[in-house]
Formats: sequence, C-alpha cells, structure tokens
Amino acid sequence: MSLVSLNSSVEKNTDSGKQTRQVRELVASWGNQTRKGIVLRGERLKELSREAVLARGLGRSYGDSALPADESDILVETMMADRILAFDPESGHIRVEAGMSLFELNRLFLRRGFFCPVSPGTQFVTFGGMVASDVHGKMSHASGCFGSHHVNSMLMRVADGRLIECNADCEPDLFWATIGGMGLTGHILEVEFTLERITSPWIYSQSRRIANIDSFMDHLLDDGAQWPHGVGWIDCVSQGRNMGRGLLDVGRWASEDEAQGRSLPTKRRASFPMYLPEWALNRFTVKSFNTLYYWKHLQKKREGIRHPDDFFYPLDAILNWNKVYGRRGFTQYQCVLPSSAGRGAARHFLSVLTALGGASPLCVIKDCGEEGKGMLSFPMKGISIALDLAIRDNTQQIVDRLNQVVIELGGRIYLTKDTFTRAEDFRRMEPRLDAFLAVREKWDPKGKFSSAQSKRLFGR
Ligand SMILES: Cc1cc2nc3c(=O)[nH]c(=O)nc-3n(C[C@H](O)[C@H](O)[C@H](O)COP(=O)(O)OP(=O)(O)OC[C@H]3O[C@@H](n4cnc5c(N)ncnc54)[C@H](O)[C@@H]3O)c2cc1C
Repeated sequence: MSLVSLNSSVEKNTDSGKQTRQVRELVASWGNQTRKGIVLRGERLKELSREAVLARGLGRSYGDSALPADESDILVETMMADRILAFDPESGHIRVEAGMSLFELNRLFLRRGFFCPVSPGTQFVTFGGMVASDVHGKMSHASGCFGSHHVNSMLMRVADGRLIECNADCEPDLFWATIGGMGLTGHILEVEFTLERITSPWIYSQSRRIANIDSFMDHLLDDGAQWPHGVGWIDCVSQGRNMGRGLLDVGRWASEDEAQGRSLPTKRRASFPMYLPEWALNRFTVKSFNTLYYWKHLQKKREGIRHPDDFFYPLDAILNWNKVYGRRGFTQYQCVLPSSAGRGAARHFLSVLTALGGASPLCVIKDCGEEGKGMLSFPMKGISIALDLAIRDNTQQIVDRLNQVVIELGGRIYLTKDTFTRAEDFRRMEPRLDAFLAVREKWDPKGKFSSAQSKRLFGR
C-alpha cells in the first residue's frame, strides 16, 4: 500500500514537547462514574505511553473501561496526539495518530468526498477508542464494525516496552485481541484504515413511525436490505399492543443530483447547563417525554435530505447532555439478542424491562450485522438494544435481571457501555473470554495494563 503524506499545512501540531502534563485528578466516564488517577497529557504519545497502564481517548465510554483501577495508576490521555500521518486520495487509505477524533476527520474529509466506513452515534471519539471498543453504528448491518472490518494495521506500545506494528498477517493474535479489547493488550499509537468514498456530504433519509416491537423486527430487516444506514428509537415504557412502538430512521448518502452542490454548514451546538435533580427523571416524566416524542412525528413517514450531523449524531447537538441524568450519573445497558433466539426475543426482553420499571427516555434498536472478528468484539448476528438508565438504588438488580435474560437467549453485553455486570455473568455470556485472556497473558504476563472494568470483570 502506498500512502502519501497529506499537506502538512492541513494538520498542525508542531510538537514543542513542553505541553506534557502529569496531573492527579478525578477521571470521569460518560455515565459520570469517577475514579482518582494520574493522567499524562501531551502530544508525544510514543513517549508518554511507556509508563501508562491504560490509554484514554475522549472518555465517551459510558462505563468504567477508561477509568483507572487504582488511584496510583497512570493513564495516558491521547487526544493531543491527533496528526494525520499519511493519506492516499486515490485509494482512501489513511494513517492517523490514535488520539485523532472522528469529529476532526469529518471536518476535513466530508466535504472532500470521504467518510469513515463505520461511525458510532457520536463523533467525539478517538480512533484509538474506536478500535479498542470495535465500534459499530447505524451502518453495522451493511459495513460491520470499525476495527474488525476496516482497520488494516496498527502501531502499538506493548507491555515490555516494544513498539509493534500489527495486522492480520503480523502478530495477528495481538491485532485481533486489541480490536474490541478495551485497551487491555497495550496502547494503540497509530491506526491505518480505508475511508469510504461518498457521493455527496448530505444524507437522503426516511423516517417513519412503527406501531410495536414485532413490526420493528420486520422493518429493521426489510429496510436494512435496502438502506445502508438504519436505527430505531423505541418508547420502552409503552405496554400491551403498543409495546416497543417507536421511530425508524434509515438513510443513504444523497446523490450529487439530490444534493445539488449545496454547501455543508457547520452545526452550532448548545450546551446542557447543569445537572438535573434526581426527581426530574421518573416514570411519569419519561412516559410523557416518550409519548410526545413519538407523536411529534406527525406524519407516518418523512423523507428528504438531511445534514449528516442530524442523521448520525443527533445527541451531539447538545454538549454535556449526560448531565440530564443528574450527579449520580447513568449507565447504558446494551446487549445483542442473537438471531438464533428467534423473533420473540426482543418482545421478551422489553416485557422484562417494563416489568422491572426500567424507564428510559433513550432506547435504541439496531440490526447488529456480522459478528466482529475481534476476540471480544460486541456485535453478533442479531438485534442490539441499548437503553440509558439513570443510576438509582435498584440499578444493580435491573442489570442483573437483564443479564439473566441475555444469558438465557445466548446474547452478550457491550463492554464500553457497562458498569454493573458481574464477573460471573460476563463469563457466562462470553465463551471467547478464555482465549482473549490467554492472549492478554502472553503479551502482558506481569499484568501491567488494567482498568477499573478489567479489575471488576477479570480480576486484574
Ligand atoms: C452519545 C454516544 C453515542 C455512542 N454511540 C455508539 C454507537 O453507536 N456504537 C458504538 O459502538 N459505540 C457508541 N458509543 C460508545 C463510543 O463509541 C465508545 O465508547 C468509544 O470507545 C469512545 O471512544 P473514546 O475515544 O472516547 O474512548 P474512551 O472512552 O476514552 O476509552 C474507551 C476504551 O478504549 C480504550 N482506549 C482508548 N484509546 C485507546 C488507545 N489509544 N489505545 C488502547 N486503548 C484505548 C480505553 O482504555 C477504554 O477501554 C457512543 C458513545 C456516546 C457518548
């Protein structure tokens, strides 16, 4: 593969080396869980990564995967290492530092006719974080997940201090364990992948109301066969014949003719000003919000051109929206229910959830696509359901009960969203765990790398 360097004026970062900082601080997850640790910040990721026991990107993982296990642990924050190292406009091959954000990539490349082949529901993530979680998105049924299906090669700092370039041919065990491995096999320093060519920077989308969960299952699969991007929002408080009603959003890149050469404006963002008090989110307010949101969609079906930010990243429109859940924070429960569990699995899952009183204003359903090739990648063929749960005294019980359902149905949960799963439950839903731990042991026999999550689930 031949990669040519991008004009260096496009990318900045002349490294003075003076910007390196080491700070003892309270580190927070997106769900507002916090742990004390020592954070290293700077542009020279190769140097900074030597001592660190965990790498951290933009902290958009909801759970404790990017939090230190111990307050003496050193974390390396990667976001200042955000250079584009090479780009070939013919093939779309690109190599970036692991701290580069998807936001920055979109800013530079959308208008130039390229997009990342897989994007999660926020663009405030780094490429290191996208590989470590092997993220999927609205396009997972058509394009798989980012690390498993699109990353060609990576440069890593491993536990014995060596720098290793790994890919499917060179150190493949390290490569596949790192994809979806939540930072536990070493620090990703550089990522190489191939951008997708797009017909215009605009999206042509269709959005429609769906009457209940059974109808959702039909439409997700039928529409998924015709549209490369799709996701559904579910009113997970409704019961009876309305159970699982919601909105289904599908889309594709607009053609040149549809886009008519119009320029893509930069979106303005509001910021959520404060933490809401705990009482503000209760069954009544969530039910009211869900009903209004469902009926706000007045026509049964809407179709037309949309800004890609509105389509891919609706939550990014309001910065700090996670404060809605209050100071105690929230967790996102995300699981995949495999196709083998049958069409009734999603209805069963929702009926358990409503019986538990797990009211959530945000419940998202997706066709999960192909199984990820990473040793702990989340996706498998089936339906993924994700719901936000404000943390309350019964959250552990709700997660335990949902995990029992997922285990019985042969599914699994998504580590990057998880804070509450018990080690024994994770083991029961993850037959690939021993193989992953063996590769981790091979590359890190002294147990250098760890996170709060790895300590909770794997003992170190
Ligand atoms: C609004 C919202 C929507 C989301 N939608 C989706 C979605 O649709 N699909 C999806 O898959 N995910 C989704 N996510 C989750 C998000 O994509 C992942 O948590 C992603 O890993 C976050 O990237 P980050 O840079 O913030 O990583 P962090 O949160 O900082 O870290 C996440 C994990 O990656 C590891 N890591 C980070 N950088 C490196 C590195 N350089 N080397 C080694 N390990 C590293 C960390 O140790 C940690 O284990 C969403 C999150 C939010 C907030």
